[in-house]
Amino acid sequence: MPGPGEFEIIRDYFSAAPQGEGVALGIGDDCALLQPPPQGLLATSVDTLVADRHFPADADAGLIATRALRVNLSDLAAMNARPLWFTLALTLPESDPDWLRAFADGLLQTAREYDISLVGGDTTRGPLSITVQVIGTAQRPLRRDGAGIGDGIYVSGPLGAAAAALPLVLNRGAADSGDRQRAEQAYYRPQPQLQTAAAIGGIASAAVDISDGLLADLGHICRASGLSAEVRMESVPVATLARRLAGDGALELAATGGDDYQLCFTVPERRASALEALATGAVRIGTLVAAGEEPAVYPRLRGEPWRARIPGYRHF
Ligand code: ADP
Ligand code: MG
Repeated sequence: MPGPGEFEIIRDYFSAAPQGEGVALGIGDDCALLQPPPQGLLATSVDTLVADRHFPADADAGLIATRALRVNLSDLAAMNARPLWFTLALTLPESDPDWLRAFADGLLQTAREYDISLVGGDTTRGPLSITVQVIGTAQRPLRRDGAGIGDGIYVSGPLGAAAAALPLVLNRGAADSGDRQRAEQAYYRPQPQLQTAAAIGGIASAAVDISDGLLADLGHICRASGLSAEVRMESVPVATLARRLAGDGALELAATGGDDYQLCFTVPERRASALEALATGAVRIGTLVAAGEEPAVYPRLRGEPWRARIPGYRHF
């Protein structure tokens, strides 16, 4: 029996998505009609996840869906934007009802958790790929180019778990079922740092989410702000799972591994105590300094220059 067609897929799996704030017209017409909030700017971002590049093609469909939405929510967090709406462009090699059910359940459950509405999309046949576009509203956007000399550099939480998890997620390497489960959580269910972002909105000078690796993503703030970064590697918070799975290699994963989706942000010295008072759990890892010839990130471990063996992830 052939699986559901394009219109059945939209109707049976996606069109019942709850329609929240500002949705004048959701799924079903040529466009969604959306009412932007009266204040602030709209923030939008899009990310594509390609099978066998960003996740194994045979991965659990619910996990793929939740990750696709979470990585986009992380971009909103990095901008200090509140999630409102998202669209989904789904390319499927075949129409498999079980896969679609798991995917839609994972997606819509995550959407409820973060109070964001699915308002449209596109459904086509081809190699498995998932594109999510998010739209949010930003009252106090956190850009990459706002950092100043002397600002402290912070990370919102422990790093390295997702990179340490990757071999298990890809089914390489032996592990007990507990570790395998923790690895799946770390890789497929990153926690977009929306609360931390909202808390630091009036305090931080710049922010970026850590998708490609701490040192690589901090480099974006440096280049955008025209500054260099001195990083104390001994202060970088390393995830317990990274220590457990990678041992001595954990610090390297925390510094250069991607996919954790914590925030890296900068705070002017005069606001450091205000940040402390918020008790967000963020950890200071260094300081911004004047760029020499060009902006750069200088990691040091107990005063000695520290070099990564593997640089941050690059697509090309
Ligand atoms: P069009 O031909 O005008 O692009 P479609 O037939 O692709 O319209 O889509 C019909 C409606 O269903 C549109 O409102 C579209 O946004 C929505 N839609 C299509 N695919 C999805 C999907 N995967 N998830 C959510 N909405 C979808
Ligand atoms: Mg279409």
